[in-house]
Amino acid sequence: MDANQVLVEISTCFKEAMRNGIGAEGLSFPFDPEDIVDDGLKDICRRLSAVFDMINESYRYAELLARGDLKAQASRTNIFAMPLKGLQSSLAHLTWQANQVAAGDLSQQVHFLGEFSNSFNLMINSIREKKIIEQQFKLITEVLGEGVFLVDYSGKIIFSNPESNRLLGYSSSEIENVLIQEVIHKQQLDGTLYKPAENLLFDAISIGINYDDEGAFTCKSGFLMPVTIASRPVFKDEKLDGAVIAFRDITEQKKYEQSLETINKLLETQATTDALTGIYNRVKFDRTLITEISKAERYSSPLSVIIFDIDHFKRVNDTYGHSAGDNVLKRLAKLVGANIRETDVFARWGGEEFVIQVPGVSLAQTAIFADKLRSKIEEFDFSEPERITVSFGVAAFQHGDNGTTLINRADKALYRAKENGRNQVCHSE
Ligand code: GH3
Ligand code: MG
Ligand code: MG
Repeated sequence: MDANQVLVEISTCFKEAMRNGIGAEGLSFPFDPEDIVDDGLKDICRRLSAVFDMINESYRYAELLARGDLKAQASRTNIFAMPLKGLQSSLAHLTWQANQVAAGDLSQQVHFLGEFSNSFNLMINSIREKKIIEQQFKLITEVLGEGVFLVDYSGKIIFSNPESNRLLGYSSSEIENVLIQEVIHKQQLDGTLYKPAENLLFDAISIGINYDDEGAFTCKSGFLMPVTIASRPVFKDEKLDGAVIAFRDITEQKKYEQSLETINKLLETQATTDALTGIYNRVKFDRTLITEISKAERYSSPLSVIIFDIDHFKRVNDTYGHSAGDNVLKRLAKLVGANIRETDVFARWGGEEFVIQVPGVSLAQTAIFADKLRSKIEEFDFSEPERITVSFGVAAFQHGDNGTTLINRADKALYRAKENGRNQVCHSE
């Protein structure tokens, strides 16, 4: 073979490689250099064959690296593989850095891979910012004066802040992993257990909606603590992941509300009760009369009033003393109170005068009822004196009446009963 033939063979070999690619076998040197007779040409062919081997090795090496095999190796003398070796060591270092980041070291920065470095560093910065927010969130829940739980969508507590531990008496390790609906929120404020469908907080957690209400949480001690509850769903990748629940102890507020309610009831009772007889006073009578009149006006239903006054009561005081007179007033109130209907409103009008509202009953019927009362009083033993009598005036609601005009007509009837000799019932028509 002469030099010309050698060049033609090699050129053919390259042409084929350009057309078909290098392939799995690699480039093969087209002939054995040892077959060359000329020593100078043989030497050149040996070196060219070595270059072929280097190309083949670099090709395989690059292929392994492209597949991510960072343990791939190329011989030290292979000059074509050198830049790839640089890339290999960068990738190995980057892998180590990524592992450091995964282990929590967010100080890692990449400086050797051009554009890729920027992206990696941006990623680290963003993770670092998220970490800071996470720390801030944790600090907030630590100093917060409200209990905070993080639960998963099944109601399992996965985080509890110090205030929730303080309020409920459970440590984080005791409370975490328990189902909120089975341990903390299983009872209503009155102590009854929730039936599954009634537990609205649990419903909100499991379907992912907001929930705000008052309720009760059971403490470790068994104390049922009244609380305000606010729950907000948490989503991860647009899928329901659980909820954040904040709660506040309102035991004192509830106590205060209850005592306020008691005081208000007491005040209301005091303001509407006559101190001597314990029956309603004029304030209550006037108030209910307004309601009854508007009902009577609207539904054209009958409404009557009775006003009655003890006959010659002055003499009772004069003869037996004022306290005996008081006793007569009390006994009379009790006697009449026992003989009226639930819907009738009986009140002390003032002094020895009393009034009764009789809704739903006509004038004639009310006059009959008043006369029954009259004879019951007449027959009753009041002890000091044994007997008293009472005069009655009765009036019925007429279209356009107000409280004053209605009472005035009854009062006029009472006046006539007194005029006519007392111990009798008169009515306004
Ligand atoms: P009449 O048959 O005309 O009604 O005669 P009366 O004596 O009952 O009427 P009068 O208005 O002259 O007197 C009412 C008396 O009722 C005068 C007052 O001392 C007395 N009285 C009013 N309120 C009370 C009370 O709370 N306790 C006592 N013990 N007496 C009272
Ligand atoms: Mg009198
Ligand atoms: Mg009087």
